[in-house]
Amino acid sequence: MKIASFEATTLNIPEDDPLANMPEEAGRTRPVIILRLRTDSGIEGIGVTLYGGRMTRSLHAAVEDLAALTVGEDPLRIEKIVAKLRAGTGDACGPGGIFTLALSAIDVALWDIKGKALSQPLWKLLGGHRDRVPTYASGSLRRGLTDQQAQRAAQILLQKGFREMKTQMALPGNPTPAEEVRRVRVVRDAIGPDIKLMCDINQRWRPEQAIDIGSRIEDVGLFWLEDVTAADDYAGLARVTAALKTPIAGGEYVWGIVPFRHMIEARSVDIVMIDLARVGGVSQWMKVAGMAEAFNLPVVSHVMPEILVHLVAACPNGLTVEYMPWMLALYEETPAIEKGQLVLPDKPGLGLKFDEKVIARFRA
Ligand SMILES: [Mg+2]
Repeated sequence: MKIASFEATTLNIPEDDPLANMPEEAGRTRPVIILRLRTDSGIEGIGVTLYGGRMTRSLHAAVEDLAALTVGEDPLRIEKIVAKLRAGTGDACGPGGIFTLALSAIDVALWDIKGKALSQPLWKLLGGHRDRVPTYASGSLRRGLTDQQAQRAAQILLQKGFREMKTQMALPGNPTPAEEVRRVRVVRDAIGPDIKLMCDINQRWRPEQAIDIGSRIEDVGLFWLEDVTAADDYAGLARVTAALKTPIAGGEYVWGIVPFRHMIEARSVDIVMIDLARVGGVSQWMKVAGMAEAFNLPVVSHVMPEILVHLVAACPNGLTVEYMPWMLALYEETPAIEKGQLVLPDKPGLGLKFDEKVIARFRA
């Protein structure tokens, strides 16, 4: 079997909030690039990448350039292909950035092909540790909402059966620490003590702010506090992690596998979050998960639950899947949630099929 052809398409997907219907700004869209990698045996693997922002045209070109280098290759020899792509482009790109985002789309499509060729779902190919995984609602309880909106959104998520959900602090404007604390308590009060509540800071605090505010809310019982300061300040993160009882999560902004070694060796986080696109695809994601396991650390996913559910389920230290609904509409069907857990699909590969009508509607 050989790769025969490919097709990359840029889409602009509405930035709405299908979970609780609390969109921040109506009409805003997010660019994503989808890839179809076709073999001479008729199998089509699909991949996706994002974060191109105003350089999405460049990212699209990078996906096409790398995909062209895969034509004629055996899609089951994924590490050989990854090495070829690196060798062909090393002087043009840094260790992260557009190369890695584009590589991710290719790697995901190759794993989809492998699953389809072997008639096995991806989560089983990668280790198959569990056939159900916890998931948490993300993207609804944002910092821009009023207290009343946040409470309402939390209640909608509970009604939908979520047992875990994430909110945000580092509120807009110049809030006092007391205002930050009040907000997370409002959300906790709305959901009660037994729901797992995470809170994302999105790198907006200084380490000393994180220790100050974090120590005032230890009794809120957060499941984790995420990206409390600049993601590459490994020593600053380690200081916060050592100072607080609340577990600290981070890693979604970390590129490739080697920076994770530095982050983990510094004991910067209690929970390692791995982004599929920034790490460079399924192959690299699993390597970081293995590295975290060796350090007795759990791993969690970032966005794209429809794909990441396979990876979190595959590894023994997978903790929970971020249910961020950005791209769910692109597919005819995505994994079901039962009693707050995602059910792993039986279909081969990713088990996903593009909804062609939706793709046509969102095409850039
Ligand atoms: Mg985050």
